[in-house]
Amino acid sequence: MRTPLIAGNWKMNLTRADSVALAKALAEGVGSATHYEAAVFPPALYVDAVREVLQGSKVKWGTQNLYPEAPGAFTGEICAPMLVDLGCTYVILGHSERRTLMGETDAQVNKKTLAALAAGITPIVCVGELLAERQANQTADVIRKQFEGSLAGLTEAQIKQCVIAYEPVWAIGTGLTASPQQAEEVHADLRKLLAERYNQPLSQEVRILYGGSVKPSNAAELMSQPNVDGALVGGASLKAADFLGIAAGVKS
Ligand code: PEP
Repeated sequence: MRTPLIAGNWKMNLTRADSVALAKALAEGVGSATHYEAAVFPPALYVDAVREVLQGSKVKWGTQNLYPEAPGAFTGEICAPMLVDLGCTYVILGHSERRTLMGETDAQVNKKTLAALAAGITPIVCVGELLAERQANQTADVIRKQFEGSLAGLTEAQIKQCVIAYEPVWAIGTGLTASPQQAEEVHADLRKLLAERYNQPLSQEVRILYGGSVKPSNAAELMSQPNVDGALVGGASLKAADFLGIAAGVKS
């Protein structure tokens, strides 16, 4: 049984006060729900303030990136043990904005994934094709390559600790959303890749989120697909009502 996860990626938005207020509203709105899990990803500078609000609530928290080294001379970076120190459950890795704007490669995402796992943090590893790749019918190949590279060398026990997020790049922050059928096709492919590399029962255990302009009006249909186990939400996660509206789309 895969518990759906609704994850809110706040990206480089909000002030400290906004972050605290949003976290409070989410803790209250999520209440004692157990049929889904909620997690938020504030800017790293605000994680501690958000942690203070969310501790003891059902909402978990994490960061949008990490640097895969032990503490040391890496100016400007944050490492997995620091995430542990701040009570993070999750970390988003390989987001398309990091791949595109910061040139992050599958090999780097793989190193970060292994560093998160070694620290006991659950990585949410993002994959997704560009519009030109979809138009050239390359989606399946792109997803396979990112899956193989970003998740290279993980043991069965390690992959079971991961969450995968399918985020078509053309749908992120654009208002365009993959249709439920387009999302389900890629999610089913990802599950096949898990079954091929590991085994069928394991492939049924790993959660695969959809991300790309998810909003309250399209969430329920996307998440009703058999292989869609929740949502990674950007823009709509900045408003408590929208995030909670998306969570309301999870079947109880
Ligand atoms: C994201 O950045 O992970 C995302 C899915 O953004 P949006 O919901 O705004 O498309």
